Amino acid sequence: MAEMSIFSRIVAREIPADIVFESDRIIAFRDIAPKAPVHLLVVPKTEEYANVVELAAGDPALLAEMVAVARDLAVEHSDGDFRLIFNSGENAGQTVFHVHAHVLAGGLAEGTLGRE
Ligand code: AMP
Repeated sequence: MAEMSIFSRIVAREIPADIVFESDRIIAFRDIAPKAPVHLLVVPKTEEYANVVELAAGDPALLAEMVAVARDLAVEHSDGDFRLIFNSGENAGQTVFHVHAHVLAGGLAEGTLGRE
């Protein structure tokens, strides 16, 4: 069997994480290297989809659930406004090929979309 992704290992409690939300299909935890005052990762428990394009095609309802979880977490952890980022592909900075959404919130600088 193929090796589990690092996020599946968090789901399985093989490695620790600061988990902030869990449902039957989704888990969310704090990014280990935060890029904003609030930086959470929202991750489907299945590692079937490598990126958001595959997820949108294969299970759009699960993608919609992730967006709703991101919104709820932004309300809970900040003022409700948030940036939702899916790095898709190595050249876009994706390092974990188990689809995940970055939720950034709280004191975001203006104009930080992409490189300065
Ligand atoms: P990406 O570069 O979009 O694939 O995002 C992967 C993210 O996972 C990075 O922001 C990492 O800091 C984060 N990350 C990697 N390992 C862990 C971990 N064990 N716990 C929490 N976040 C992690």
